Amino acid sequence: MPEAGAKAPRLLIDAMLGDLARRLRWLGYDAAYRNHLPDDEMIRIAREEGRLLVTRDRELAGRRGVRAIYLAATDLDEQVRQLTAELGPSLHPPRCIACNGELVAITVAEATPLVPPYVARTQTEFMRCVGCGRVYWPGTHLPGLQRWPRGI
Ligand SMILES: [Zn+2]
Repeated sequence: MPEAGAKAPRLLIDAMLGDLARRLRWLGYDAAYRNHLPDDEMIRIAREEGRLLVTRDRELAGRRGVRAIYLAATDLDEQVRQLTAELGPSLHPPRCIACNGELVAITVAEATPLVPPYVARTQTEFMRCVGCGRVYWPGTHLPGLQRWPRGI
């Protein structure tokens, strides 16, 4: 994958922000998501993995020894706007919304056994997650936020 331009920081998304994590992955940010972890554990992971903590917990964001962004907004679109304004565009290709893995292009022949027959017949571009194996194609997943696959 090309590493064009400035590197977006790697992110650690706090509990209850799973939808935000998935949206950010689709925008190309490396966005790890952890739910149900104590604050101290979140800070440890952020430091060990060199990630910027994204949280709606003002106290956690203000803790010493961790780089963090406090999100005031509760609305998902507003949260995305705030983050992309502060971080700049990721300049990276989309990542797997399910697991944050990198996506690599695969051929139609490689994709055919993995997708529904209609999709294999009608699509020509496929990407596969190196982490979980999920396959993406433009018709369903890539067009942008209007057709964002909610609930996946
Ligand atoms: Zn994946």
